[in-house]
Amino acid sequence: MRILFISSEVAPFAKTGGLGDVSAALPKALAAEGHDVRVVVPYYRRVREAGHAVELVVPPLDVKLGRRILRFSTLRAPLPGTTVPVYFVECNQLYDRPSIYSGDGDEHVRFAFLGWAALRIAQQLGFAPDIVHSNDWQAGLVPVALRTVFAWDRLFAETRTVLTIHNIGHQGTFAADVLADVGLANAADQLHQDELRAGRLSFMLTGLLHANAITTVSPTYAREIQTPEHGVGLDAYLRGRRDVLFGILNGIDDEIWNPSRDAYLPTTYSADDLSGKEDCKRALLESVGLPYRRGVPLFGIVSRLAWQKGFDLFFEVLPALLRQHDAQLIVLGSGEKRYADLFTHLAKVAPRKVAYRNAFSEPLAHLIEAGSDLFLMPSRYEPCGLNQLYSLAYGTPPIVHKTGGLADTVRQFDPRTGRGNGFTFDHFDVRGLKWAIGNALDLWQHRGVWRRLQENGMREDLSWRRRVKEYTALYRKLVP
Ligand code: ADP
Repeated sequence: MRILFISSEVAPFAKTGGLGDVSAALPKALAAEGHDVRVVVPYYRRVREAGHAVELVVPPLDVKLGRRILRFSTLRAPLPGTTVPVYFVECNQLYDRPSIYSGDGDEHVRFAFLGWAALRIAQQLGFAPDIVHSNDWQAGLVPVALRTVFAWDRLFAETRTVLTIHNIGHQGTFAADVLADVGLANAADQLHQDELRAGRLSFMLTGLLHANAITTVSPTYAREIQTPEHGVGLDAYLRGRRDVLFGILNGIDDEIWNPSRDAYLPTTYSADDLSGKEDCKRALLESVGLPYRRGVPLFGIVSRLAWQKGFDLFFEVLPALLRQHDAQLIVLGSGEKRYADLFTHLAKVAPRKVAYRNAFSEPLAHLIEAGSDLFLMPSRYEPCGLNQLYSLAYGTPPIVHKTGGLADTVRQFDPRTGRGNGFTFDHFDVRGLKWAIGNALDLWQHRGVWRRLQENGMREDLSWRRRVKEYTALYRKLVP
């Protein structure tokens, strides 16, 4: 099949979270299955500044979007380690900015244009996609564009569309008067009329009404987003489309996230021989200036600091944990100030126990996954979550709130049967998290059982090789 994959992030070029990892690993896995996949992503300032070798495929041309004339050219580079082409939309007017998501007044244009340009690139290449796979709100207008603005082009006559929801908390909702700006002035009759009357245009809603199929990144999240509690206002629409809504778990790219070959680790290790993990712990503690003390459990966190991630529980839980237990904590993450302030404060009052890095660091993220003994991820909601998967693969049992993809991938360890791969709590509250941490610390004392717990996670097949088959089965159902 020919697949055009459109995303606002693709690792290693542009990544702020899980979307970047998935938008690299899934196309790679699809290509390994023999499909012709082309990925399209903006040429952000940071991609240019990183100096990736790219070649010019189509020289600059001016295109009209609403009232704007935008100059864009098409660049190309392979996805590292593959022959999958990544096409970069170079349009400095829109993408030459300090960050991937700008919050500027023309954010709707920046991402509407990504979709438009992706379809233009397909035209330039004469690439007739069987599937156009859009990701999140940023590519949400593509299905309706194919039905309206691009409907004249026979190239897309057989094309079917898939929209993947990576996080329904971000919907790309703008004032309805942006219609002309995003090139849909003549397509208003195809949009949700009540929404337009209410003065809104939502990229995500438009996408999920027009896509031939909708996927999200775990079966539990697929159910949750159909409820008022988790649907963030879109649940009724999702219930209306439940026949074409599927939950497919993310996998991990085990050429990148694999303790037995991870280039960021001082010593590699595997389920058969975990001795290198202790070296990683020592190196990790040293790199952040904490003392290494044998037998003292080390908790790790790698995360965007956002409300979604459940860190509000930490204000009460972490001070108590550090007071009552001999334990250490390393946190890597940036985002909302109140959480950054909490971690900064903890590191100040317990300098031998806590270290906090307010940064985005791929090497440190890998070292924390490997060097920690436990991984903390108490998300309020979690569409899939990748970090708990990485921690399972690295023998670092995760402690998670049982929600979304966390519920689908982490199973409470039962010392009697020796089954399970981590620690879960059902209710999002301080008691729940404290209970799960207490549970983990109790088990930590029993080295043999602990080893079993680690192995359970490490021996699971969490790779995309398994997951990708669900996507290809879905694509096949859609293609005429
Ligand atoms: P989300 O997509 O909601 O941010 P996921 O768990 O799905 O959460 O994916 C997060 C990804 O982003 C992981 O690859 C994680 O390692 C990475 N990440 C998050 N924060 C940082 C950071 N500060 N430094 C390095 N990597 C980070």
